[in-house]
Amino acid sequence: MNVTRREFGRLTALGVAAHWAPSLNAQAGTKKIGYAVIGLGRIADHFMRGSLLTSNSAITGLVSGHRDKADRIAAQYKVPQNSIYNYENFDEIARNPAIDAVYVALPNSMHAEYTIRAAKAGKHVLCEKPMCVSVAEAESMIAACKAANVKLMIAYRCQYEPIHLKAIKLIRDGQLGKIEAIESAYGFNEVAGEWRLDKKLAGGGPLFDVGIYCLNACRYLTGEEPTDLHGYTSVVDHDGRFTTVEENVAWNMKFPSGAVASCSTTYGAPMDGFFRVFGSKGTLECDPAFNYDHLHLRGRFSGTRLDDNETTPDPYQFQAEADHFSNCIINNQQPKTPGEEGLRDMTYITKIYASAGIKI
Ligand code: NAD
Repeated sequence: MNVTRREFGRLTALGVAAHWAPSLNAQAGTKKIGYAVIGLGRIADHFMRGSLLTSNSAITGLVSGHRDKADRIAAQYKVPQNSIYNYENFDEIARNPAIDAVYVALPNSMHAEYTIRAAKAGKHVLCEKPMCVSVAEAESMIAACKAANVKLMIAYRCQYEPIHLKAIKLIRDGQLGKIEAIESAYGFNEVAGEWRLDKKLAGGGPLFDVGIYCLNACRYLTGEEPTDLHGYTSVVDHDGRFTTVEENVAWNMKFPSGAVASCSTTYGAPMDGFFRVFGSKGTLECDPAFNYDHLHLRGRFSGTRLDDNETTPDPYQFQAEADHFSNCIINNQQPKTPGEEGLRDMTYITKIYASAGIKI
């Protein structure tokens, strides 16, 4: 991956250079993992730009229902015409040796089908979050990838992002003392007509889409799995947008250590994502925490004041995750965020909704 000497020095200071080291080693190699991208929407654009910045990943296939869009992107990324597929002939990727892996960037309820079809075609899978829309689907995705002996990674980009890695390290090093409580929120004002407001495509409301960042962060910040989860859902804007999914979700979690978390998410307000960690020796706050760049980490702990701005621009987070997954494929290693990580979040999401009386 293209990490400059200055940036590597900064990552070393952050204590996260080890995470990037395989990337630097991979520069010496020649193998590039070829990705077919399914669903050429907003996030796919970030991923394709990010993968271009790695030394071990390339876009070698496109899958789209819109041939004109696929042709335009193919020209940009030098994808040959015979590597452009649609949803019907997608399974023919099995016969394309230029495609090693598939990046699934479709609406949530399509993740399971295309992950399983990709596995059956013998391709590794990098699947966007949320992994899918039910625990049963998550389990079948993991089983399909295992049966086909291909790797499955869920694209939890924040787990590859230096500011988040720094927060995790500070907490694991005991700088904050014992973690007592976490607060986290993330949301936005969704516009009418988007697939995210259709339960058939989205699986549910903002918890599936952006609240999952808070849920996932509480887990990796504490390093624990929640034992008790309780949520509430509501609709404030009765303007026709929230007929199949809820507008707001708030939930609480308790962890085995006794740490508690309080989170919320919305499709009804511009809610910049943040997390705050309260420890017995101090606090750590990241705000914004879940954007593609310019994250800001501040803290007061153990007699220290911390003020760290993220300087790596978008699409750095996507570069990092592509780089990681490609290295896992090249070196036959387990991804840091495998299907099982997505399954855990699906289990917790299901419990939160169930406690609010919603079956997903
Ligand atoms: P998008 O609407 O911009 O793109 C979705 C793509 O799927 C489009 O190319 C669309 O043509 C295609 N598609 C195929 N069948 C469709 C159907 N029936 N309805 C609607 N679109 C259909 O969405 P997006 O924001 O790119 O989100 C795609 C996935 O990526 C979602 O699972 C989302 O949760 C995830 N996502 C992840 C991040 C992240 O930071 N990791 C950010 C945004 C979205």
